[in-house]
Amino acid sequence: MPQTFEYTFDTPVYKGKTSFSTGLYINGQWVDGSKGTTIDVINPTNGQLVTKISEGTKEDVDLAVVAAQKTFDTVWGLNTPGTRRAELLNNLGNLMQAHFDELAALEALDNGKTFGWAQDVDVTDSIATIKYYAGWADKIQGKTIETTAGKLVYTRHEPIGVVGQIIPWNFPLMMMAWKIGPALATGNCIILKPSEFTPLTAIRMSHLIQEAGFPPGVVNIIPGYGTTVGAAISEHPHIDKVAFTGSTLVGRKIMEAAARTNLKNVTLELGGKSPNIIFDDADIDQAVRFTSHGIFWNHGQACCAGSRIYVHAKVYDEFLTKFTDKAKSLKVGDPFGLDTYQGPQVSQIQFDRIMSYIDSGRQQGATLHLGGERHGSEGYFIKPTIFTDTKPDMRIVQEEIFGPVGVVIRFEDDDDVINQANDTMYGLAAAVFSKNIDRALQVAHKLKAGTAWVNCINQLHPQVPFGGFKQSGIGRELGEYALENYTAVKAVHVNFSLSVK
Ligand code: NAD
Repeated sequence: MPQTFEYTFDTPVYKGKTSFSTGLYINGQWVDGSKGTTIDVINPTNGQLVTKISEGTKEDVDLAVVAAQKTFDTVWGLNTPGTRRAELLNNLGNLMQAHFDELAALEALDNGKTFGWAQDVDVTDSIATIKYYAGWADKIQGKTIETTAGKLVYTRHEPIGVVGQIIPWNFPLMMMAWKIGPALATGNCIILKPSEFTPLTAIRMSHLIQEAGFPPGVVNIIPGYGTTVGAAISEHPHIDKVAFTGSTLVGRKIMEAAARTNLKNVTLELGGKSPNIIFDDADIDQAVRFTSHGIFWNHGQACCAGSRIYVHAKVYDEFLTKFTDKAKSLKVGDPFGLDTYQGPQVSQIQFDRIMSYIDSGRQQGATLHLGGERHGSEGYFIKPTIFTDTKPDMRIVQEEIFGPVGVVIRFEDDDDVINQANDTMYGLAAAVFSKNIDRALQVAHKLKAGTAWVNCINQLHPQVPFGGFKQSGIGRELGEYALENYTAVKAVHVNFSLSVK
């Protein structure tokens, strides 16, 4: 019998209670994992145990796939009209709204992000995404295509079937919404694995999904480890599509598993090392505000973090002084504190990983300009960190750190900075700051990135596609584009003539 998680939040910013079963959600029921084992959920603010949740296994994935396939063939898929799918998604969005603060508090507790940011971004965007895709559910349409006289040809955009979704720990609820929204709008059944580090909001969502009225088997949620549940999803012969958000390293494994098994359709949202270019004609105060947000928001644990900060030589000193002051002003501390900007990193592993990058920056000869050390004596806090005097081939310039660590790089020439900005295996996002719109747009168009921000950074909207060039991913999430990930196009040829041609 799965444990019930009961928790009382008594904090300066939120007082409330939560209580829900921590079982796997398979075929509309909360159950123990097939081995009866559990995963510890750790509070990153103090390293202490929050609760234990059921651990999924390969056998649980098999059970969920059987249930999902049956539901797809009988009551979901082509059996439920788009208007009903829209209604259910709207129900879910409304329930999330009713549990707005509870979801934000769970996210802050589990991930370490601040309650305020979880409210303003994670929960707000997740609800908007679910409602946005509710709007699409009854607008999934093909085309009629003219060919020859005596023939009618049309296309249908049919749901793929049972789809696997594997998500990371940095925006647990939001990544879930980005995945389930388009998959449900188009009529697929889902096997979703949240990160083992941050499973709480996905489990809480399973309860809201049931309450919203989705038939059993439409959404199955199986918390577990990557090498067990994640691998089972990507290798499964009866899962026809896998959508993954996470590191490039694991993305490669997912693709290999798909190729080795049933050639399932794969979409990947992967890592980044995004350039942020500040020209000499930028509004420096605006650039400082966005640059700080770009690298320090969510503790630098954002795939699109503007971690390589290129600053024109003419404004370098002014920018660095103001950016340093801004970084010093950010309050690091309790995610439920009144004016906290930055909470802890998500885990000990992530803390150690970031600290080892900071060591490598020092060892490779960069100047540690600010931070570079633990904040406080417990939990996984790292002070906002700035490096200067880097070389292009240093690890802190090339590799995704996924922490509050930015490198500030001086440049003089527009072509040179474009080359430097593009000199990475990643291509997720980029930002340009300039008051000269011609210059800003020309550079934005030359940057090899799936998103280019001009005089802003970290702007995301449910309507706007998001995804990577190069090794930052394959396919696009959000917007109309994401619907393509979850439909298979069928061409139907109808013949009215007696000729065989
Ligand atoms: P990760 O790749 O370690 O894990 C992501 C998910 O994959 C987790 O659920 C994990 O359990 C699972 N996994 C691990 N090994 C697996 C395997 N062998 N087979 C199948 N699944 C496996 O990433 P993370 O540390 O959770 O998240 C950070 C990464 O996610 C960063 O690289 C970040 O840039 C990326 N990210 C990208 C986007 C985007 O939209 N492009 C958004 C958020 C995060």
